Amino acid sequence: MLILTATATGQGDQDNDFTWTTEGELVWLGLVCDRDLRDPDGGCGCGRAFSGLSSHRATTTAMVRDLPLTRDDVVQALVGYLEAAGYGTFTAASLEDEVDELLAPLQRLSAGDIVRRRLDELLVLPRAPRPT
Ligand SMILES: [Zn+2]
Repeated sequence: MLILTATATGQGDQDNDFTWTTEGELVWLGLVCDRDLRDPDGGCGCGRAFSGLSSHRATTTAMVRDLPLTRDDVVQALVGYLEAAGYGTFTAASLEDEVDELLAPLQRLSAGDIVRRRLDELLVLPRAPRPT
């Protein structure tokens, strides 16, 4: 299935890029603080960043990858991330909406797409021209 993963590809296109994640790990659109809700280019960075589910670190670029995962795998990864981060205890059922919000926009994307985040919106970077 198509899923968002951390990547360093595309880094440096924007002055305020950063990537502290592990290449290829699953990411999601983590929570955004009040400061970045007013300006995703503000000093915090959470409004333009994807959160790595394994590293608990962030990156401003993500790659759509087609991985041999099920929806349940993604739910369990998110449960593990949230519990490890100290947000409490979660059941798979309690995260249905979050997983839907994560997966639904990917239906219009393709494996290999590089995306950026502006709060709740995903922006797809243009593909580099192929060498002829
Ligand atoms: Zn923030």
